[in-house]
Amino acid sequence: MKRKKIAIDMDEVMADAIGRFIELYKKEFNEDLSDLRLPGRNLQNTVPPERLEAVRQFPHRAEFFKDLDPIPGALEGIHQLHEKHDVYITTAAMEFELCFTDKFNWLKKHLPFISWKNIVFCGDKSIILADYLIDDLERNLKTFTGTPLLFTAPHNAHVEGYTRLNNWQEVTDYFLN
Ligand SMILES: [Mg+2]
Repeated sequence: MKRKKIAIDMDEVMADAIGRFIELYKKEFNEDLSDLRLPGRNLQNTVPPERLEAVRQFPHRAEFFKDLDPIPGALEGIHQLHEKHDVYITTAAMEFELCFTDKFNWLKKHLPFISWKNIVFCGDKSIILADYLIDDLERNLKTFTGTPLLFTAPHNAHVEGYTRLNNWQEVTDYFLN
């Protein structure tokens, strides 16, 4: 089997950024935002309008991306893919100016077998040329020139028209079975 180039997004595919939103919301407003994990939910339809802008600023804070929990099965799954294919980490890091070191340290800690040569901190992902892109955001998938794969996250429950992978077991089954 020929090795494929597989580009994989970070937030909500391998790193649980929603967990950090819930944690910071609790600190800031002393309320629970766990509903953000329900299918169909996003910040817009979960956070009260008067707090929405403040919450949207969370990822611009220092350390928002520090030590995010891995998505279940992601680290093992990426390791399995890495053995059979060429894995690239592609994250739209440029959107959040303070995230770079935290994201890079996260990758070094959790995926030490991924070379720096295989890490792409980018803006518009349409520049990415690979065979596959695994991502939770439709805006990244719709311009991708290879095979787009939608990784299920609460906010994309309504998205149709893509091959959907609901969890990391389904990702590894897709590529390895
Ligand atoms: Mg993402």
